[in-house]
Amino acid sequence: MSAQLIDGKQLSFAVRRQVARRVAEARRPVRLDAVIVGEDKGADIYAHNQRKTCAAVGIEYHLHRLPADVVQDDVVEVVAGLNAGESVTAIMVHMPLPEGLEAEAIQSLIDPTKDVEGVNPANIGNIVYGRRSLVPCTALASVEMIESTGVELRGKRCVIVGASNIVGKPIAVLLMRAEATVISTNKHTEDLPGLTRSADVLVSAAGVPGLITRDMVKEGAVVVDVGINRIQGEDGKRRTVGDVAFEEVSEVAGHLSPVPGGVGPMTVAMLLRNTCEAALG
Ligand code: NAD
Repeated sequence: MSAQLIDGKQLSFAVRRQVARRVAEARRPVRLDAVIVGEDKGADIYAHNQRKTCAAVGIEYHLHRLPADVVQDDVVEVVAGLNAGESVTAIMVHMPLPEGLEAEAIQSLIDPTKDVEGVNPANIGNIVYGRRSLVPCTALASVEMIESTGVELRGKRCVIVGASNIVGKPIAVLLMRAEATVISTNKHTEDLPGLTRSADVLVSAAGVPGLITRDMVKEGAVVVDVGINRIQGEDGKRRTVGDVAFEEVSEVAGHLSPVPGGVGPMTVAMLLRNTCEAALG
């Protein structure tokens, strides 16, 4: 059997088109305000790409740069100012923050209605209660990709490998909301292969290259690979791979998302959609 590809790039283009249409028809400007503290090359590249991506769909992008030696109160002041700003509709704070700053405390300050990365715990609480909420982008992307296969989630067994606050746990909660039977696993889980083999839907968000092998996957399962791992290939070149041993798993899975070109581009698209939701409801 050869798995059908869950093409994150194609799916993300469709989302971007929808967002661009909504932004063009909106009565108010849709904007994203991002905060970067200190010098981090990764965050800089991310911000640069974000500016381009936002421009492509008509979203205004405002970047607020703070020096690396700021104290917690300075960052708090900036976030509070953005929370209060009437024209500010969406806020995100780039990670990592320099040492000495408490990321969780800062994230918890972001107004939940402007928190487009879903990092304020109020938003995950709202997801649990089924209230209107901004859902962490990677979790949303993963579930959209599962749903794109047409699988009926109600009653299906879903195994999530990895249980971080920002990825694994919100995916589990979203799948519970869809009335799936959800098993959350982590690095201490006993007999992981026994559990994954029973999964109709398998999501791996562990950050361990090659963790999910062919013998761990049920025939016909939907497999979504969230992992992003940089490894050195046999040719000595560095490349990006997921958690799933793609070639061998594609022989048993029914649907499989690739890395790159899977959850990554959909996560960016979900940030745009959340930004639109925050501004326009
Ligand atoms: P994390 O390190 O915070 O959490 C990893 C989780 O995986 C933990 O719950 C840990 O217990 C579990 N785990 C680790 N090894 C395991 C094993 N051998 N078996 C079972 N569980 C195991 O990581 P994170 O921030 O949740 O990210 C996970 C992966 O997803 C990383 O590769 C990260 O780069 C990637 N990621 C991708 C996107 C995207 O846009 N595609 C976004 C965020 C994170």
